Amino acid sequence: MGISPPTWNPLVYLDYNNFWRTMDKLGKEIPLEAPWDAPHAEEWDKMTMEQLINNTCWTKAAKEYATFFVNVNVTSEPHEVSALWFLWYVRQCGGTARIFSVTNGGQERKFIGGSGQITEKIMERLKGRVKLESPVVRIDQTGDNVIVETVNHEIYECKYVISAIPPILTTKIHYKPELPPKRNQLIQRLPMGSVIKCMVYYREAFWERKGYCGALFIEDEESPIAITIDDTKPDGSFPAIMGFILTRKAVKLAHLSKEERKKKICEAYAKTMGMEEALHPVHYEEKNWSMEQYSGGCYTAYFPPGVMYTFGRTIRQPIDRIYFAGTETATEWSGYMEGAVQAGERAAREILCTMGRISENEIWMPEPESKDVPAQPFTTSFWERNLPSASGLLCLVGSTAFFTSVAAAGLFAYKKGLLIRN
Ligand SMILES: Cc1cc2nc3c(=O)[nH]c(=O)nc-3n(C[C@H](O)[C@H](O)[C@H](O)COP(=O)(O)OP(=O)(O)OC[C@H]3O[C@@H](n4cnc5c(N)ncnc54)[C@H](O)[C@@H]3O)c2cc1C
Repeated sequence: MGISPPTWNPLVYLDYNNFWRTMDKLGKEIPLEAPWDAPHAEEWDKMTMEQLINNTCWTKAAKEYATFFVNVNVTSEPHEVSALWFLWYVRQCGGTARIFSVTNGGQERKFIGGSGQITEKIMERLKGRVKLESPVVRIDQTGDNVIVETVNHEIYECKYVISAIPPILTTKIHYKPELPPKRNQLIQRLPMGSVIKCMVYYREAFWERKGYCGALFIEDEESPIAITIDDTKPDGSFPAIMGFILTRKAVKLAHLSKEERKKKICEAYAKTMGMEEALHPVHYEEKNWSMEQYSGGCYTAYFPPGVMYTFGRTIRQPIDRIYFAGTETATEWSGYMEGAVQAGERAAREILCTMGRISENEIWMPEPESKDVPAQPFTTSFWERNLPSASGLLCLVGSTAFFTSVAAAGLFAYKKGLLIRN
C-alpha cells in the first residue's frame, strides 16, 4: 500500500499490508454518527490501540510503524487511546490511506496566507460582535434567558448558547443548574493530545537539490521530530521545513530551551537528509500547544479506553439551551478544521430546528464535495486485498511443512515395511 514505508523484508511488507487492511475492515463496522453502537463497541473500547497493534502486527517494524501512525494522527500514544475511538477516528477521515496521504489525502492542501484568515474574515463580517480575551466562566440557565458571564465579569443574555470549545475546557465553566452526571463525567475524561509545532527557516530550499520534497517521516527515537512538510511560501519565499514534536517527545523535550530544541531538530534533519546545510537555519519558531491554557493541547481531544462506549453518546446532546459544536463533536474529519465547520453548522441548525425554522431532517445536511479539490477514490490491488498476513503465511508454511513431514515419514515407514497393507 502507498502509505507503507519501503521494505526489503516480505514478512514486514505483509505485516504492513495486513495492518492497514485490518484497520479499514474493523473501521467499516463502526457507525460514523454513533460509534458507541458498533457491534463490538464495548469489547473494542476496553482495548487500547497498543493491544490492537500487538494482536494485529507480528514484526517489530510493523508495530513501530503502527505506533508512529497513532502518534502522527492523534498526537497521543497507542497505550493511551481506545481502539474503538481510534478505529472510528480513522474511519471518519475516510480510512487509513485518506488520513495518512499527502496527495489525495488529509495533508494535501494549505491556505495561501494561512488558515487563520478564516476566523479573521468571519470576525470582520460580524463587525465587533466577536469578543476576544473573554473566556466564559459561568452559564446560568435557570431564568427565561440564558446568562453567560466571562472571567472579566461581562454578562451576556441570550436565548441559546453554542459551546464550541474542547470538551475538557468546559470544566472551567460553572453551570447552573449543574450538568447531568454523564456529561459532567465525560468532560473530565477527554484529554488533549501533545504537540510542539516547529518551523525552521533556511536561506534556500536546499533539500530540493537532492530531489527531496521536504516531507519526511523520521522513525528514529533520537529525533525530536517525527514528521515534516515543506512550508516554503507558494512563491518560493521563506524556505522552511515545518515539523511536529509529537506526544511522548513533546512531553520529554518541553523542559529544554527553544535554542536547544532548534539544535536537536536541525541535527535530525541533517542526519535524515544527509545534508549538513540543515545545520544552518536563518530563523526558528515554535509553539508548544500544551502550554496554551485555552487549548490544553492539540490537535484534538482523544478518548482513553472505556470512555466512548459509556459516555460518548452525550458528546453532542444539548443540555437544555446549550448546544455543542467544536471539532470533537463532528462525524467527519473530527479533529480537523473541516470537522469544526461541520459541527458548527449542525449545532446552528439544531437551534433553528428548536426555533421551528427548519425541520428535524434538515439538521444533518451532508457537506458538499469540494469542487476545486474533489477526493478521488483510493484503489487497492488484488494482492493488497488477498495476500495473507505475516502470521497467516507462517502458519501456512508451518502446516505445509507439517503435512510434508507426515507424508515423508509415512512413505519412509511404508518403504521399510513398517506399515501393514491389507
Ligand atoms: C499544531 C496543530 C496542527 C494542526 N493541523 C491541522 C491541519 O493541518 N488541518 C486541519 O484541518 N486541522 C489541523 N489542526 C486541528 C485544528 O486546528 C482543529 O481541529 C480546529 O482548530 C478545531 O476547531 P474548533 O473550533 O473545534 O476549536 P478551537 O480551534 O480549539 O477553538 C476553540 C476556541 O475556544 C476558545 N475557548 C476555550 N475555552 C473558552 C472559554 N471558557 N470561553 C470562551 N472561549 C473559550 C479557545 O480560545 C479557542 O479559540 C491542527 C491543530 C494543531 C494544534
